[in-house]
Amino acid sequence: MPYFNPVKRPVTIVGAGVAGLSLARVLLSRGVPSVIYEKASSAPRHNYAITLYPLRLQSLLKALLPKASDDKTSVEAKFRSSVGVGSEGTMNPSNVVLQARRKGAFRANRGSLERYLATGLDIRWNSAVERVEKVANGGWVLHFEDGKTVESKYVVAADGIHSPIRQLLLPDEKPTVMPCVVYSGKRQISREVFDASLAQNLAGNTLMEYSFGQTVLQFSVDEMNQDQVSVRWTFVRDAKKTDDPLFKPDRSFEAATETPPELFSEIEALGIMPKPWNSIVNVESMKEDKTYNWLMRSIALDPVDVQNLRQQGLFIVGDAANARPILWGAGANRVMTKSSYWADVIAEERVQQLQRSRKSENTGLVAGFIEVTRKYNDTHRVLSPEESTEKRAKRTAKRREWRKLQKEKRKGSQKKADVKGLEKIRKSSGQGKPAENKEVEDSKVTDLQDLEEGQKPSDQEKVEETKEVKDSIVVDRESLDEDKKLNGQEKPAENKKWRERIQ
Ligand SMILES: Cc1cc2nc3c(=O)[nH]c(=O)nc-3n(C[C@H](O)[C@H](O)[C@H](O)COP(=O)(O)OP(=O)(O)OC[C@H]3O[C@@H](n4cnc5c(N)ncnc54)[C@H](O)[C@@H]3O)c2cc1C
Repeated sequence: MPYFNPVKRPVTIVGAGVAGLSLARVLLSRGVPSVIYEKASSAPRHNYAITLYPLRLQSLLKALLPKASDDKTSVEAKFRSSVGVGSEGTMNPSNVVLQARRKGAFRANRGSLERYLATGLDIRWNSAVERVEKVANGGWVLHFEDGKTVESKYVVAADGIHSPIRQLLLPDEKPTVMPCVVYSGKRQISREVFDASLAQNLAGNTLMEYSFGQTVLQFSVDEMNQDQVSVRWTFVRDAKKTDDPLFKPDRSFEAATETPPELFSEIEALGIMPKPWNSIVNVESMKEDKTYNWLMRSIALDPVDVQNLRQQGLFIVGDAANARPILWGAGANRVMTKSSYWADVIAEERVQQLQRSRKSENTGLVAGFIEVTRKYNDTHRVLSPEESTEKRAKRTAKRREWRKLQKEKRKGSQKKADVKGLEKIRKSSGQGKPAENKEVEDSKVTDLQDLEEGQKPSDQEKVEETKEVKDSIVVDRESLDEDKKLNGQEKPAENKKWRERIQ
């Protein structure tokens, strides 16, 4: 019988975007090889900044830099300096209106992020998948535009919001366009001019968002080096119910670069911009910029469909499965977290497959491999939603117990104070205690002391408890944010208003 090691067979990924690359990197860190097929002829140059929240990307970061995984700060710092705009991507969460205000947020250049993730991966450029087909013995065949085919047990469709694979397998699922007007213009300025005019007002930040009534203007530094700085302005408002000359949900791909003159009249009507925006947001200069009309598309696949395909070895991930409007600053973060999760699922399934196929032979070696992989997965994997709920419930129960203990403690000290008060009154009134009463009172005090001693946490315990409660509050806040976000209400007050307006 020929030796067949399913773990050595690569996972096939379609699409070298943030989702496909993150998934492949996490797989690689677990020893599972993959091949990415990408229709572009070389690494695309996405020269714009996106907001990342490293606190949400822990699992991916550990997979990227396993050696530094014991030291959270160094992992984050290394990641940030590799992909951050101007190496730091500093942003002040209080300067944003559209995006979530999360701790640790920074701006990454998407091109740098994708190049960073692509390190060490097997990417086949110029490979446009035309269709996929299920094969009788399990698995899938990919048909490419140039006529070649590839067969694979596992296929990951990470082919973006317009996913051809999703269109083929789930033709009824289509992205919707939110009633929101977004135009964005890009400009290159010299580093010298940037430092002299904008840098001071930005105070080191790379993103600012301003509300002007119903309109929000975003100003972003997308990339910078010693000589040049790439900046971007973005105009955002909710679409008018009827006859909006700026809202074109059905425009073609080519028409994205057409800018209606009404855009400039609206910008002029906003009045004089404060510094430093007046140097960027002035109509004369804006007319020279390369301007795009962005559509705020979103999609969320039915989990049952996703699960059905998954059981057949086809995983739809990233924007192809669940896309959020690009300016809310959530898409890539979610895509990376979810891709890490799916990589864990695939890695685990392959281990089980190996276990089944090699059951009777070489059991010692296989068992060792399985054990090592499981251990690794346990420490690095992203929790599934069920596991997160379970973990949260445990934490809540612990906190409740702690509060109960504190309450009892407070009751205990009240009783003790009452006993002491009684003694004081007796002493001051010159009354001696009758012998038997004294004994009873003493025993009360001793009982209370015993009770307290048993309940009183040591100093170390106190520190740990306080830390635990603090930690759980932080984590709970994050979970709450995530839950709210899933319900589409994660924004702070003004963001919520904004969101309500456009929905
Ligand atoms: C302007 C802008 C600003 C954004 N800002 C933020 C932000 O601040 N924060 C945030 O978290 N997210 C942001 N996002 C969203 C984020 O960039 C996306 O959610 C994320 O990049 C999606 O990754 P993906 O890999 O799923 O899809 P994509 O990046 O679209 O990758 C899909 C890949 O599949 C390839 N492909 C498609 N069809 C085929 C085929 N037939 N065969 C082979 N390959 C194919 C494509 O060429 C592409 O490389 C922003 C997006 C944009 C456009």
